[in-house]
Amino acid sequence: MKLKIISSLLFLLLPFLSSAVAKSDLTKESFDAINLESPGLGKVKSLVVSKKYDAAAKALLKYYQQRSDIKHPDYNKEDRASYAGKKLPAGVQEKADKALDHKFFVHKGYGFIDYGKDINWQYWPIKDNEIRWQLHRTYWWEPLGLAYWSSGDEKYAAEWVFEYLDWIKKNPLGLSKENDRFAWRPLEVATRIQDQTGMFNMFISSPHFTADFLMAFLNNYQKHANYILNNYSEKGNHLLFEAQRMIYAGAFFPELKGAATWRKSGIEILNEEIKKQIYPDGLQIELSPNYHVAGINIFLKAYRMAQLANMADEFPASYKKTIEEMIVATGNFSFPDYTFPMFSDAKLETKSSMIKNYKEWAKVFPDNKLIEYYATDGKKGQAPNFLSKALKDGGFYTFRNSWKDTATVMVLKASPPAFWHSQPDNGTFDLWVKGRNFMPDAGAYVYGGDAEIMKLRNWYRQTKVHKTLTLDNQDMDTCDAKLMIWKTTPKADILVYSNPSYKNLNHVRTVLFLENKYFVIFDQANGDATGNVGVHFQLVEGDAIYNKAKNSVQTNFKDGNNLLVRNFDVNTAKFTEEEGKVSYGYREELKRPAFVFEKQKTDAKAVNFTTVLYPFNGKNAPEINLIEGKTNNPQKGIIDMIITIDGKQHTIKQNF
Ligand code: CA
Repeated sequence: MKLKIISSLLFLLLPFLSSAVAKSDLTKESFDAINLESPGLGKVKSLVVSKKYDAAAKALLKYYQQRSDIKHPDYNKEDRASYAGKKLPAGVQEKADKALDHKFFVHKGYGFIDYGKDINWQYWPIKDNEIRWQLHRTYWWEPLGLAYWSSGDEKYAAEWVFEYLDWIKKNPLGLSKENDRFAWRPLEVATRIQDQTGMFNMFISSPHFTADFLMAFLNNYQKHANYILNNYSEKGNHLLFEAQRMIYAGAFFPELKGAATWRKSGIEILNEEIKKQIYPDGLQIELSPNYHVAGINIFLKAYRMAQLANMADEFPASYKKTIEEMIVATGNFSFPDYTFPMFSDAKLETKSSMIKNYKEWAKVFPDNKLIEYYATDGKKGQAPNFLSKALKDGGFYTFRNSWKDTATVMVLKASPPAFWHSQPDNGTFDLWVKGRNFMPDAGAYVYGGDAEIMKLRNWYRQTKVHKTLTLDNQDMDTCDAKLMIWKTTPKADILVYSNPSYKNLNHVRTVLFLENKYFVIFDQANGDATGNVGVHFQLVEGDAIYNKAKNSVQTNFKDGNNLLVRNFDVNTAKFTEEEGKVSYGYREELKRPAFVFEKQKTDAKAVNFTTVLYPFNGKNAPEINLIEGKTNNPQKGIIDMIITIDGKQHTIKQNF
């Protein structure tokens, strides 16, 4: 009986005894990743040479605790004091506290997910790929670090060290094909490379950050960076992220043997990719406004990290200039409230986060007046000296009557083919008037996953939920718009483009911005194809008043800022309400008005639609009619028509 008690007591004590008494497992190989010739590592080297590995690891830890010449862009030792005792934002504190119970905040839209006392890194409760991928970005570790700095409570450091080692133990490369697909996808590996530099600085002074842990950390870190070196993504924003983060790795840990190679490869790729991925007009080739902005930040982050390590001159001058053009392009496709269309996989951007971006950008480009204008919310700097402007290579066309909050702005996409994030949506547009986006893009709602998730995603990708033309409500086969006319004049702007949307069916869209106030859209479907041709429109969520007899719909906002949509093919086009939804954030959706005007195309003869979008003030929309003159030929840029607004005739005659 007694013996049993003693032995179980021993059993309980064993883990403590073993860690206190047992010698650590460090060997000469433990130091393989480290360039012992690096400045400052003389003592470490001599201890390794004399086979005193524990002492060498301790000396290395001391070196890192005292290292001060390498700066991190966000978290440095000296920043700790400014966090001490400061309350963290509620969401951040909650992420840290729940992480202590292994309830991780992995991705927006799913709340906290319980991964179990014994963390199950393979747990996949909802078959959205992003849950499985982003678990391996460990985004809740930064909150753990911030909670540690703010409270000084060692429990956060202990938890981070535990989770770090637990991750290494349970996710070795090659565990299974499936696990590698998620835990070792290069984008996730690269995310860890970047973020762990911050964690390193946040926890390095904790007693839980032992010399043994340091060695485990450095070996894991170099394995990560070497993995990227041989497994870069083929193209797109993933490749950019990976290259940028290799610059982080090489700049932050110059003592590691791979550092120079990592830096060099990252810089070379970014130099190469900035030429390949950015159109001459400054648009990133994925043509998703969010990824465009992410692209700017990637290029600049890499540049800044190189600056902090005194290597910025490894980038040519053209690199910086291209980034500046990307920023100017962002201003051009943004509305005065800093939002921009949620084309492709974009989500709604907030003004505060965009101002934060512009402020960062202004630091690198202090002489650019447009960037200063956006960074200071218009208080300093200068609005551009142009209004409507086309980004013709990427195919974003902006109609604009001012840069102020009272502006009318339309951004239309008529683009060359793009990558995975893009949608079959050529011709679609957002219309923003005086602070209201009357026709926001539907957004993305969710990314990839199992059949269930893909069904949700695919609803938002459909051509017919965009403001464009469809044949039999099918998704367009081809996005490859050819610009025919773009011209801005004091009284009117015009865009004409053609897109080979379907086999044997071209969509030719003409947009006129008239009297700096309203839009007339001519849509033509030409080619041999036959079927049901529809022109779709969707409005912002809220009340809409339908007038079936007049093929018109108006919004009904109490503040009087309203929009009328009227189709003029009253006798020939069928007017039908459709299912309408808009998603401003991941897994968030709202119902909204949507409708279509349809005509049967029975032969090779072209089918035409004419629609007016008329912003107005008040409750009742004006009565608008349009009479085409004999010579009217919008596709050729010859405009000859009379528009009557509440009885007042406006003669529009212009050859563009
Ligand atoms: Ca869309």
